[in-house]
Amino acid sequence: MDFSLSSDQKMMIETVRRFIDEELQPLESKVEDAGELDLEAAKAIHSKAISLGLYAMNMPENLGGAGLSNFDRILCEEQFGRTSDILIRRAFGNVYEPLLHCKGEQIERWLKPTVAGTRTCSIAITEPGAGSDAAGIKTRAEKNGKGWILNGSKHFISDGLWSDFFLVSAKTGEKDISMFMVDKGLAGFTVGKDQKMMGLRGTPHIELFFDNVQLEDAALLGEAGQGFKLAMGALNVVRLAQVGARAVGKSSHVLEMMIDYANQRQQFNTKIGDFQMVQQQIADSVIEVNAARWMAYHAAWMLDQGLDAREQIAMVKVYAAETLGRVVDRAVQIFGGMGFCKELSIERYYRDARIYRIFDGTSEIHRGVIAKSTLKKGAVLFDVNR
Ligand SMILES: Cc1cc2nc3c(=O)[nH]c(=O)nc-3n(C[C@H](O)[C@H](O)[C@H](O)COP(=O)(O)OP(=O)(O)OC[C@H]3O[C@@H](n4cnc5c(N)ncnc54)[C@H](O)[C@@H]3O)c2cc1C
Repeated sequence: MDFSLSSDQKMMIETVRRFIDEELQPLESKVEDAGELDLEAAKAIHSKAISLGLYAMNMPENLGGAGLSNFDRILCEEQFGRTSDILIRRAFGNVYEPLLHCKGEQIERWLKPTVAGTRTCSIAITEPGAGSDAAGIKTRAEKNGKGWILNGSKHFISDGLWSDFFLVSAKTGEKDISMFMVDKGLAGFTVGKDQKMMGLRGTPHIELFFDNVQLEDAALLGEAGQGFKLAMGALNVVRLAQVGARAVGKSSHVLEMMIDYANQRQQFNTKIGDFQMVQQQIADSVIEVNAARWMAYHAAWMLDQGLDAREQIAMVKVYAAETLGRVVDRAVQIFGGMGFCKELSIERYYRDARIYRIFDGTSEIHRGVIAKSTLKKGAVLFDVNR
């Protein structure tokens, strides 16, 4: 394992970071105050990022993406953690890996426009009665002469107001689950309310209802009955990147703010950073952020070697998300009243951090995955050559 960065990687990080600092961070407080990203601003950052080649960087070059390795992607995602969710979505895109299973006409209709940024996709798996138990969904698709008839509902679907189509999981047999690409505007498909959240202001999370929606055969992604496997496999890398690496980036960013504040805030005629109890909070944060970062790099390196990194990604998901929670909590403490005050961004980071332990599989679900593998395979779990 060699994690030294090439000059190309350094330049990539620098370009992404500059775009975030100059184009996105200035919009953060407006999004926070308005609760949404202004349409004109959304279009402006979207087209500027596309023109700079920063959109859909996770997609292969032959489709118009940047063809990043998993490790390079993690380096970018760490930077994405330095700004708000909705700004990342509009500027850099959120092109889900399962779409790479598109074949034939699906490539021109759904995959390529999504990579180009002319269409946007959300992923719709969760239902009011099926969250952690993603296989317990009630949404069903029945085969008919014209394709499939879809019935059911989803909720908490991120960015669903903006999206043009949805990657929807549905039962196609007693236990079989398939994935379908469902376009907004089809008869019987309605978008419900925006479910207001504690954080992630600006990103809508919506309900979807399907009432006898007629889907074409071409809407089926991959093979019938293989949808669950397909989605879960492809979403593993999404979990590492969009949750693990972003949590590392957010923790790092907050840590930088803590350090600056501890170096300049004076009480009792001395910098608060001189107090050992403040130093301990900084030291613990540095240790944990670096540990989470190396875990994420290691898991990405494993994926790039073609190794099975499922358990490692589960570990990153738990550790990076929980590190973020601890770091933002310490940040509020070190900033004192200003940490709780909306004049600074610390309170926003505190609210936004909480979801990292819940979405993309809760900490409890991932701990279960790690424990079961460890009990079955023992110490081999930690052998990268397995
Ligand atoms: C802001 C936000 C954005 C989201 N975006 C999307 C999206 O774009 N698309 C999408 O499909 N979904 C999305 N989700 C859904 C998200 O993935 C689920 O909320 C998550 O998987 C947990 O499911 P749940 O909320 O139903 O909780 P539940 O599954 O009801 O869990 C409740 C509690 O029980 C615990 N629990 C459940 N099962 C077990 C078990 N076997 N062992 C131990 N503990 C257990 C959980 O850990 C948790 O603490 C989003 C959710 C939020 C809040």
